[in-house]
Amino acid sequence: MNDILPEQTPTWQFVEETLRTLLASYGYSEMRMPLLEKTELFKRSIGEVTDIVEKEMYTFEDRNGDSLTLRPEGTAGCVRAAIENGLLHNQTQKLWYLGPMFRHERPQKGRYRQFHQLGVEVFGLEGPDVDAELILMSARLWRLIGLEDAVTLQLNSLGSSYARAMYREKLVHYFQQHHDQLDEDSQRRLHTNPLRILDSKNPALAELIAAAPKLTEHLDEESRNHFKELCSQLDAAGVRYQINPCLVRGLDYYGRTVFEWVTDKLGAQGTVCAGGRFDGLVEQLGGKATPAVGFAIGLERLTALLDEGVVPLERYRPHAYVVRAGDTAQQHAALLAERLRDEVPGLRLQLNHGGGSFKNQLKRADKSGAPLALIMGEEEVINGTVGIKALREQAEQQTLPLDQIVPFLQSYVAGRN
Ligand code: ATP
Ligand code: MG
Repeated sequence: MNDILPEQTPTWQFVEETLRTLLASYGYSEMRMPLLEKTELFKRSIGEVTDIVEKEMYTFEDRNGDSLTLRPEGTAGCVRAAIENGLLHNQTQKLWYLGPMFRHERPQKGRYRQFHQLGVEVFGLEGPDVDAELILMSARLWRLIGLEDAVTLQLNSLGSSYARAMYREKLVHYFQQHHDQLDEDSQRRLHTNPLRILDSKNPALAELIAAAPKLTEHLDEESRNHFKELCSQLDAAGVRYQINPCLVRGLDYYGRTVFEWVTDKLGAQGTVCAGGRFDGLVEQLGGKATPAVGFAIGLERLTALLDEGVVPLERYRPHAYVVRAGDTAQQHAALLAERLRDEVPGLRLQLNHGGGSFKNQLKRADKSGAPLALIMGEEEVINGTVGIKALREQAEQQTLPLDQIVPFLQSYVAGRN
């Protein structure tokens, strides 16, 4: 579980602000759900025979003896909340949430025990145009944050549950013929969740998996058309993708469309965004049958991909740092700072605290990243003026009367924000 330090938060804030604006521009609304849910909810939705439920959940009994779990993902809680609050009655919903998720995994680069996801879910719409919108929206996000060349899209269809059941039999038959080549995990999965063998990261199985029967060849008619239509909408929009017949996703609730945005720049943990359709989940969790589709982005992996220089740091630094010379000026400096914050919307102003020599204060001003120092000295107090010193460029120090400093900063801020 990581601390996210002040030097890293500008990257996070940049990503979060970009996401909020993007999601609003597509008409999606935010949901905020609890971090804890009943353990049962995750078992029923994610599936008993999945990595998450088998070995990754933080589960405990509360004081009433109820079994609770720190959410390992957001979809289950989002569906629960939507059902409970009547959000799915004869209406569609386009929702998003952002926050920490918890999985007891072996920590490594790109894999942590507390990590953050943006989740986006659409309820009540079954057409492939919605799947396409989600993919286009994620593609737009990569462009907005400068990652369009770092990620590629993989796509597959898991078909209807009936088609999957038929395919499952074929797959079990195939793997049974090669039983001795399977690793221990896969031998166990053969009887509980054979599709997950396709998702195995064990390189020793790669060849066997590549030669396995393909789900794409066993799709039901409706799913095949749904998938075809999605592909043609992506083609029309100029989104490139690769169809990956082994893409099955790690959770049980998916059917039809599944997709992942992957990168080769983060070593083994290459999936940045993963999603798909889960038309059966709402009903499975006690609601009226409601088609649904969504995706989740792992924010640690995303921020790790952002090169230095991508995030406009000026946006997170103070515009000005207020220093004072002489003891009587401190209170005047503090009052000036308050007045400027009142009168200059958007101004980011940091006030020197803890005294210090004039030289030391200027050093702190420099370290804050602010381009300007505002100087309050004894003389400025007497004359009703403020000194302005540029910290990032060579320029004469100016002195402005108090009533001119406000318009000066207003236009300075307007030119930079
Ligand atoms: P993986 O196969 O990598 O374990 P998953 O199928 O468990 O992935 P999802 O449940 O689909 O992952 O989560 C969606 C996204 O959340 C992932 O693509 C990844 O970006 C991120 N993610 C998942 N688990 C972690 C983790 N432990 N630490 C950091 N990010 C994670
Ligand atoms: Mg996982």
